Amino acid sequence: MKKKDKIVCRTRTTIVSFDNKLWPCCWVCTNPEESDYLKTLDENWNSLDHHSATDIFNHAAFKEHFNKPHWASKRHADPICKSTCSKSV
Ligand code: SF4
Repeated sequence: MKKKDKIVCRTRTTIVSFDNKLWPCCWVCTNPEESDYLKTLDENWNSLDHHSATDIFNHAAFKEHFNKPHWASKRHADPICKSTCSKSV
């Protein structure tokens, strides 16, 4: 049987950075410049100074991109997730 890469998310909790922004994990929080997807978003998309935590968790970045719908897509999976959490299954 041929092995296939699959993203298995390793985060256990979300992260709030020093500038009060909510991130899905420490890897995304510390390397946002590696994500072409994040470059398309408003700089305050995840700022708790501008949005409620509920609104941020409901943002497509949390619900789709750093989540199962995009992890399952070779085209949409984020490079940070691919490099950090890919597993051969
Ligand atoms: S890099 Fe992506 S897949 Fe890995 S823990 Fe973070 S959000 Fe989950």
